Amino acid sequence: MASVRLKSVSKRFGTTVVVDDVTLDIADREFLVLVGPSGCGKSTTLRMIAGLEEASGGDIFIGDRRVNDLGPKDRDIAMVFQNYALYPHMNVYDNMAFGLKMRSMPRAEIDQRVNEAAEILGLGPLLKRKPKEMSGGQRQRAALGRAIVRHPAVFLMDEPLSNLDAKLRVQTRTEIVKLHERVATTMIYVTHDQIEAMTMGHRIVVMKDGVVQQVASPQEVYDHPANQFVAGFIGSPT
Ligand code: ADP
Ligand code: MG
Repeated sequence: MASVRLKSVSKRFGTTVVVDDVTLDIADREFLVLVGPSGCGKSTTLRMIAGLEEASGGDIFIGDRRVNDLGPKDRDIAMVFQNYALYPHMNVYDNMAFGLKMRSMPRAEIDQRVNEAAEILGLGPLLKRKPKEMSGGQRQRAALGRAIVRHPAVFLMDEPLSNLDAKLRVQTRTEIVKLHERVATTMIYVTHDQIEAMTMGHRIVVMKDGVVQQVASPQEVYDHPANQFVAGFIGSPT
């Protein structure tokens, strides 16, 4: 369990500023959605929280620890990407167990965690399948399973539904919200889809060109958009 704090975080690639002085306070167990058009700096922000990208300036805290100098493995986070990144030669059970084996966790505990995740996600019947023997939606659930077996303090998800068809996307949205309630971790969820943001987040952060435009509940954003950009973005069809 942990809060996440960003204090004046920036990222430059060369001379281009892609994340500009972002300050955010994410509460323990909150479901926060980062939303904005393609290229606005969502993934870069998430990758800095994950430790996959170094911040050019500012401080990142997870719980009480400043994590800027810690590698991804030491940050107590799990990240789920849009392309799933499952190991193709391993079945679902081994995909979920792999990271835990690497940490020399006892076999019985691995088994217990994998079975718990399988139960939460309805993956029981699929444990012996390899990724190529599953649908896109099933693979995405396996990728979620691989993240939750780690019992991370913070979940980071980067457009995890964008490879799914429209119907499955709506269904999986609901599953992720339920999953979040069940595992009770802090969630930072990135999407370019404003409907997804409005339906999933406790609060949403609207970004444009690396700059935060508004941080508020979906209702507040809807009723009182901070500026013309937010109003236009939230009101636009997907
Ligand atoms: P989003 O996830 O909102 O679509 P990104 O965070 O991926 O946006 O990218 C923000 C900006 O930073 C984009 O203009 C992108 O081209 C640029 N960018 C991302 N990664 C790199 C990189 N490794 N080198 C140079 N520019 C990058
Ligand atoms: Mg992105």
